[in-house]
Amino acid sequence: GSIPDSDRIDAALAGAYERARRHDEGAVADYIPILARADAHAFGLCVAQGDGRLHEVGDTRIPFSIQSISKVFVYALLCDAIGRQRALEVVGVNNTGSAFNSVIAIELNRGHPMNPMVNAGAIATTAMLPGATTEANWHLVQTGLSRFAGRDLIVDDEVYRSESATNERNRAIAELLSSYGRIEGDPLAALDVYTRQCSLLVDARDLAVMGATLAHGGVNPVTGERVVSADVCRDALAVLAASGLYERSGEWLFDIGLPGKSGVSGGIVTVAPGKGGLGAYSPPLDSAGNSVRGQIATAYLTRALGLNLFASE
Ligand code: GLN
Repeated sequence: GSIPDSDRIDAALAGAYERARRHDEGAVADYIPILARADAHAFGLCVAQGDGRLHEVGDTRIPFSIQSISKVFVYALLCDAIGRQRALEVVGVNNTGSAFNSVIAIELNRGHPMNPMVNAGAIATTAMLPGATTEANWHLVQTGLSRFAGRDLIVDDEVYRSESATNERNRAIAELLSSYGRIEGDPLAALDVYTRQCSLLVDARDLAVMGATLAHGGVNPVTGERVVSADVCRDALAVLAASGLYERSGEWLFDIGLPGKSGVSGGIVTVAPGKGGLGAYSPPLDSAGNSVRGQIATAYLTRALGLNLFASE
């Protein structure tokens, strides 16, 4: 399966780009100091079809740190390695209704992180990776995400250092989870792997290919390599539908009707199951930390291509 008709995709991409470009609401994230340097005008969109064909418009080759979008791919790798049941017990699949870095949400749920797409659940996810050492877990993450992208992804050291120096809140979250017995081993070692995973550099093209890999049962449509099982992709996409855009996940699903995942550097990956992936990049964010232009462009594009999963025709 694929999104039919390449000409229609190119026309829809051009329309989405023009529509979203006019919007200049939102603000570039600055709680991680180096992210504040991002170019607010950078804007790129890429669609990856099921046969590996790519369609691009705008700044699809500008590298940016993947940030929270890493969470879905690490979750998929974890479920592939240890099975969905154990991940479900420890991390959960329900929306918190709170911000991605909420501490209150952890307390209200007696230490349960609720889902793998908020920081607490993502740190717990990374902590459960089956490697024997911290470095082995990092290797699983870096090679795993690279296989989703179909090329070797590298860490942006400046982003990694900037976030490591300012991640008091994530340290608090990791220690709090540990106090509730939700993390085995050193919580700060798990946090370090998480911070590195968030610093991996991607571009809009990579996001499209990574999304298309989830769309196609875990087989990267460009390299042909199987990264995770089809069952894992199904489960990861269900989790995205509930929590991919944090407390705005309901509005996103209502508008777009597809699983997606955002990150604070301005990326959004959207998955049309069985059809393809969309990568969007534009740094200015709404108050929940989701790219403003990314959301507008994705809504336009998915409507133009008729991809809403809940539409009967
Ligand atoms: N690395 C960021 C953090 O932990 C990721 C958050 C995000 O993209 N929403 O805060």
